Amino acid sequence: MPLKPVAPSKCPSGCRRIPVCGRCPGLLAEVWRGLQLCPSHTAVFSLSVTFPRVVVAINSFLCSDICLSCIFFFSPEHKAGVTIQSSFIYVNIFFSPLVCLGNRSRTAMKFLLVFDFDHTIVDENSDTWIVRCAPDKKLPNGLQSSYRPGHWTEYMGRVFVYLGDSGVQEDDMKRTMTAIPFTAGMVDLLGFIGKNKEFFDCIIVSDSNTVFIDWILKAADFQEVFDEVFTNPAAFSSSGYLTVQNFHAHQCPKCPKNLCKRKVLKEFLDKQLERGVSYTQIAYIGDGGNDLCPVMFLKKGDVAMPRHGYTLEKKISQLSRDFCPIECSVLVWSSAVEIMSYLKLLIKEQLK
Ligand SMILES: [Mg+2]
Ligand SMILES: [Zn+2]
Repeated sequence: MPLKPVAPSKCPSGCRRIPVCGRCPGLLAEVWRGLQLCPSHTAVFSLSVTFPRVVVAINSFLCSDICLSCIFFFSPEHKAGVTIQSSFIYVNIFFSPLVCLGNRSRTAMKFLLVFDFDHTIVDENSDTWIVRCAPDKKLPNGLQSSYRPGHWTEYMGRVFVYLGDSGVQEDDMKRTMTAIPFTAGMVDLLGFIGKNKEFFDCIIVSDSNTVFIDWILKAADFQEVFDEVFTNPAAFSSSGYLTVQNFHAHQCPKCPKNLCKRKVLKEFLDKQLERGVSYTQIAYIGDGGNDLCPVMFLKKGDVAMPRHGYTLEKKISQLSRDFCPIECSVLVWSSAVEIMSYLKLLIKEQLK
């Protein structure tokens, strides 16, 4: 069906509301028209398509006026050529994180990469993966149902007591944890960052624990990639039981009791500033609901990288639909190789 150019209607937050119909090429054409309508030919679009019953977030796309070919990270639904019946797309226009580089201080030449751990670096939840060590690879019902929302660390403390009581040794746990799979493309991405540390500072902020993360990073030889790891402190007691504590106390009403990742990020940036280090751009890579708080702390020129199909992406899309989009750019990823492509662009830009 031929598409007619449409004038974007205004929304309070500056989103453009563009009617779409037809198949993927039609959608692309509309998006491209949206780009043409944009006063800057360099923009990052974060797209959400609302279907009658389901909400599909199409991955961000990034284009630059240097190279008019665009980089598309398409959702599998669109690769399959799903027909969009009748809907609207809400397009939030951000300045490209690449363009914003020029507006920021050139004295600091580093980028900060902030990684979540579970379902971001590894393709599982490390706290639930450890249950493979338990007798019959499961927890008793009473223990399973003892979790109270917002009190995960206390719950894991009880899980570790159960594992200790069941005779599970440190070596068993280590063997199990180091078999956890990395997320698609993550080994390539971390290897790339490790070889380009002059451009990137890299931290982990995670609700897992120090013992698990140390084991996994060391086994894969990735500990040099990360400058600091912020997570719940854990250790084996003299009787061989793993114990874990809350990372810190905080006042944030949105976050679990033991960890507000925004507070961690803010304190890290303040500490770096005291040392004379500020960052050209912050990229936050995560998947979970507790990653939204730090993402909302990011500024224009920074970039949030939510994993496609996971809670963080859904929450960011919901904010766009509610006309209160987050301030930073959004780049959705399915494989960490897509993140690596973006980092290569950053380095290219930095070397100009
Ligand atoms: Mg996670
Ligand atoms: Zn918080």
